[in-house]
Amino acid sequence: MELSRTAEVVLRKRYLLKDEHGNVIETPEEMCWRVARAIAKAEENYNGDSEKWAKRFFEIIYNQQFMPNSPTLMNAGTSLHQLSACFVIPVDDSIEGIFKALADMAKVQKSGGGTGFSFSRLRPKGDIVKSTMGVASGPVSFMKIFDSATEQIKQGGRRRGANMGILNVHHPDIEEFITAKREEGVLRNFNISVAVTDKFMKAVIEDKEYEQINPRTKEVVRRVPARKIFDMIIDGAWRNGEPGMVFIDAVNKFNPTPHIGEIESTNPCGEQPLLPYESCNLGSINLAKFVKDGDIDWDSLKEIVHIAVRFLDDVIDVNDYPIPEIEEMTKGNRKIGLGVMGWADMLFMLGIPYDSREALELAERVMSFIQEESHKASQDLAEERGVFPNWKESVWEKRGIRIRNATTTTIAPTGTISIIAGCSSGIEPVFALAYKRMNILDGEEFFEINPVLERTLRENGLYSDEILSKIVENGTLEGVDEIPESMKRVFKCALEISPEWHVRMQAAFQKYTDNAVSKTINLPNSATRKDVERAFLLAYELGCKGITVYRDGSREEQVLSIKKKE
Ligand code: UDP
Repeated sequence: MELSRTAEVVLRKRYLLKDEHGNVIETPEEMCWRVARAIAKAEENYNGDSEKWAKRFFEIIYNQQFMPNSPTLMNAGTSLHQLSACFVIPVDDSIEGIFKALADMAKVQKSGGGTGFSFSRLRPKGDIVKSTMGVASGPVSFMKIFDSATEQIKQGGRRRGANMGILNVHHPDIEEFITAKREEGVLRNFNISVAVTDKFMKAVIEDKEYEQINPRTKEVVRRVPARKIFDMIIDGAWRNGEPGMVFIDAVNKFNPTPHIGEIESTNPCGEQPLLPYESCNLGSINLAKFVKDGDIDWDSLKEIVHIAVRFLDDVIDVNDYPIPEIEEMTKGNRKIGLGVMGWADMLFMLGIPYDSREALELAERVMSFIQEESHKASQDLAEERGVFPNWKESVWEKRGIRIRNATTTTIAPTGTISIIAGCSSGIEPVFALAYKRMNILDGEEFFEINPVLERTLRENGLYSDEILSKIVENGTLEGVDEIPESMKRVFKCALEISPEWHVRMQAAFQKYTDNAVSKTINLPNSATRKDVERAFLLAYELGCKGITVYRDGSREEQVLSIKKKE
């Protein structure tokens, strides 16, 4: 396996099996076999050849063409067999309901999964509590309990707990929710997002009032100018990236099983909308491995998509679910989330700038191809293994399509698996061409140069220590005089790309993704609230399912940063 230094450290620290003294007892190659064999066991349920499939699964993982999400890599073939990254847990408006959700969250996070919650059903602050004649404390104060519980559960020491907290914009406590994370450190284990409806967005655009409704009584509590709330969301996002927005009507428009339930939340990073008690396992194809002689190798991409869909479907069968409700819902819909990573690398290799029409067109071509092939693969599986149990009355039945999985595609952040595969993450532009990574490994810092840039520099006779040190200085090619303009145009970093192109790229991928797309709309530190507003409105207009922005330097604790000159 070709591993960068960072990849090796990440694997040793968190993925490779250890004995009771903490010594690593498997090689990366053995890890690939452990995962491949554990998943291929599912083939036996269908009289399949598990050894044959184990070999194919091994090859695509070992060759870094495909990576399953971290819980699968960490847990497959071990005693803790929880393999999914994404969960949504419902929170009912009662003390029993809230604390059941808390206990469920603990079980999921202990096993390495991330949890999303909508708190929209909780009665607002100050509302009556009949049994005690007391007053309710409201969603935000209950979220703080979830937050401190997460703080204590270290996810088996290998993965930080992650939560998504969602509140519907029509909830009376929405203002408190929007400003809940203004102070750094509060709700630190939560990403928060406002679920906005089309009704609300229409009121924003027409500058009208909208209704805030008590979810317990269904009564209208007050009418508020939509613009006021929208401005508060923008202000928070501008200040430190929180809250984000989820376009909840767009999400439900594409709910494949509306007869089973309504979607009210996503997983922590927003790419996976799920029904209450639903979970989903993800996997990503490394696009950088599919560029051959300056073109895309569509045949082998197709082949890998089909194997990957089979792999992800097998995961559902061999998975150990943390609670019975989740097992039932997950096996009922059999959602899987196949996505991509290495998109920026692919564009580098093809010489296409990220911020160009050509890149948007290629994004649509690549993702529509993957979408179509993954649906075909899932239909093939349905022939062999049957449709998903909730298929009747689903949108698939209405379209007359017999399919094994209610959804097949999701674009994940691939925060760690892209490091292991040695490619750029998800569909993001690279953050820097030479960078230091922080907050991923305790206290350790590494400098790395983008491998595609390194290769290109060598091919053009431009690779020297002097040029490298100049690139490391800024993280970008800006001001490096030796490098030709044509190369600078292609090798751009996230902050050199305008927010509009970021949003357009997200929308291009969303168009051909069943679930949603994880994307951070990166803004330079100098961006204004108006820039944030424009990004939000554009994302809504273009049919994105949600949006998250981040303005450089707007948090003290920043995951990615460019080394600055002293
Ligand atoms: N996730 C989590 N904790 C983490 C990172 C991720 O629970 O520290 C979950 C979360 O649901 C997120 C999903 O895993 O949306 C996918 O994240 P990513 O693709 O970055 O994970 P990877 O498989 O690369 O580790």
